[in-house]
Amino acid sequence: MYEVYALKCGERDTTACEFFYREPSHDRVTLDFFVWLVLGGPHPVLVDTGFAEEDAAQRGIRGYTSPAAMVRRLGVRPEDVATVLVSHLHWDHWAGHALFPSAEFWIQREEVAFWTGPMARYDVYKAPANPGALARLVTLNYASRLRLVEGDREVLPGLRVHRIGGHTAGLQIVSVETARGRVVLTSDASHFYRNVERRQPVQIITSLPEMLAGFDTIQALAGSERLVVAGHDPEVAERFSRVEPGVVRIA
Ligand SMILES: [Zn+2]
Repeated sequence: MYEVYALKCGERDTTACEFFYREPSHDRVTLDFFVWLVLGGPHPVLVDTGFAEEDAAQRGIRGYTSPAAMVRRLGVRPEDVATVLVSHLHWDHWAGHALFPSAEFWIQREEVAFWTGPMARYDVYKAPANPGALARLVTLNYASRLRLVEGDREVLPGLRVHRIGGHTAGLQIVSVETARGRVVLTSDASHFYRNVERRQPVQIITSLPEMLAGFDTIQALAGSERLVVAGHDPEVAERFSRVEPGVVRIA
């Protein structure tokens, strides 16, 4: 059985109208930025890579702590992280890849194709991209460190990735069997609980129908235990148990 932790690497404020789809409210909304660590298997598995200090400075992130420092707080050396399941390639999930020098990165093939394809020329898709980090996809692939997957895959017994799309072309989420039941790490398939619980989309989209269907998939995977971990919601620390500042034990 696995243990799952959410590790907070920083935070930033935005407004509801900028973030949620066709949302009129100007209320302030705080985004927490996480990576998620899965322990109890043959080796530690990380979900997403977070981002580096330069990105934090450029993007106005408060209280940055490196994802490498965060995994160390749970007794894991970054170089011992053998597998990283990358939900998608936005800067805040991919730009920290160099912090995990031995990892193999599992990414949906469609996600890589999108960020290296024709849409890269449009400003709307440039904003959440870190081109330097995206360029490294090529060298990492030739170093045999990318595992390009299509659809749903078992990573280890009881640990799976599921393709969702919607927010990005090949967004994937992760399900993990634990002693408390199946945990669903949604990453940006549901930034906040209000996305999945009220079926409220966000504004950053490649397919709105896929985003909506993704909310159904999250709830179907979570079942009655409802161990859903939203991707950027500060409420994660309240719904689950905070071990110390920045570290939340999910199960
Ligand atoms: Zn994100």
